Amino acid sequence: MQTAIPFDNSYARLPERFYTRLGPSPVQAPSLIAFNHALAEELGIEAGPEDDLARIFSGNATPENAAPLAQLYAGHQFGQFNPQLGDGRALLLGEVVDRSGTRRDIQLKGSGPTPYSRMGDGRAWLGPVLREYLVSEAMHAMGVPSTRALAATRTGETVIREEPYPGAVLTRVAQSHIRVGTFQVFHARRDQEGLEALYAYTVERHYPEARDPADLLSKVIARQAELVAQWMSLGFIHGVMNTDNCTLSGETIDYGPCAFMDAYHPETVFSSIDRYGRYGYANQADIIVWNMAQLATALLPLMPDPETAVADFTQRVHAMPELIRAAWERRFAAKIGISNLRPEDKDLVADLLTRMQEGQADFTNTFRALGDGGARDQFTDPALFDLWEPRWTERIADEPEPQALMARTNPWVIPRTHRIEAAIMAAVAGDDAPFHRLNRVLSDPFTPRAEDADLTRAPLPDERVLATFC
Ligand code: AMP
Ligand code: MG
Ligand code: MG
Repeated sequence: MQTAIPFDNSYARLPERFYTRLGPSPVQAPSLIAFNHALAEELGIEAGPEDDLARIFSGNATPENAAPLAQLYAGHQFGQFNPQLGDGRALLLGEVVDRSGTRRDIQLKGSGPTPYSRMGDGRAWLGPVLREYLVSEAMHAMGVPSTRALAATRTGETVIREEPYPGAVLTRVAQSHIRVGTFQVFHARRDQEGLEALYAYTVERHYPEARDPADLLSKVIARQAELVAQWMSLGFIHGVMNTDNCTLSGETIDYGPCAFMDAYHPETVFSSIDRYGRYGYANQADIIVWNMAQLATALLPLMPDPETAVADFTQRVHAMPELIRAAWERRFAAKIGISNLRPEDKDLVADLLTRMQEGQADFTNTFRALGDGGARDQFTDPALFDLWEPRWTERIADEPEPQALMARTNPWVIPRTHRIEAAIMAAVAGDDAPFHRLNRVLSDPFTPRAEDADLTRAPLPDERVLATFC
């Protein structure tokens, strides 16, 4: 049996200037690293034998009814507007309607150059492919809206970065690849018809209940506010929150130099290209508002009277920090076992975080250990915790089931950067076992298992990864 994908392509029916039709560039020696059978099942994909999967998901065979294309978009990169980006190394193979009736994109990443490649080679190396596979699947398992990983293949070719590395292709699945930057490209070109077609498509696909462009803006703002609060509640740092990496669907997309914090510090930055910390941990709450302001600007011409809509759009964007604050408070209160939020709870959370910063406490392990009395050991000076604990104990005495809430809110295991790097290095040397183990353990991040406890440990000083690359 050959692999069968029940394509039902809609983006390919949008105007031709939205994309470039193009097939993937063949690779020398495709081989399968991983295939997500559970996700394939959800998508209604019939998986053939391994060599067939390797050919399809490396781009060497185009499956029946695919309509491969590179999407056009623009975007602000580190605050600078780039009027034309687009899929420089990715191709949308097509869409399927999944078992629950949701339309999903299937995209190859690292599939060769496109007209939007600029100076790039159109390829990806094994490291970022495995990182995106692991982190996007872990995010999903932790309940974060995220693109998914369907497959990872080796290409058998070499990709030159700082050094020569093995090439790879990731197959990613998204509710769509419509980005803030997709609206920006038509806005920047004053392509009113294009903007209207994109708006109609986005509303139909993601927000059928949206009444008008202003309402769409508010709905995207609401989803993105929730998303960023959720990232922060897990210690996640996206790393490249450019407007082209910000979806209309509200899914996390484009895992480049992303990382989870180990010790808590609000200014944590990992990305090697983020020299000024623009996309650092705590800044994410400000940057997402900035990104939504760019979306608002791009949506304005869709209003019957854009001039008078400015004040209304501004108000909608200005309402976002309060939405993020509310989502943040709710999520962090849950992390300490509180479900019936009171106004003073945010001070209890903030006080703990201040102490964690001072005591260099591990973000994930401190919250996880709150339930079992082990949290104080996470602090360089346990007295920092001891001074906070009595107020907290008193507060959660009023809660119905604080332990159960904490156990399902605070992950036991996360994709730690030093573990990801070790799995990548092993895979570069030909051993995929650490990657597969990590992937398996991260698929169930809330259940403690003694045999996997080594993966929950914070990095030792000499294991710490200080910078991430994409
Ligand atoms: P990113 O910061 O990963 O979202 O990438 C920004 C833009 O650069 C996107 O348009 C990518 O498609 C493009 N890009 C990144 N890496 C490459 C590459 N190796 N070859 C071609 N285009 C690339
Ligand atoms: Mg991107
Ligand atoms: Mg990228």
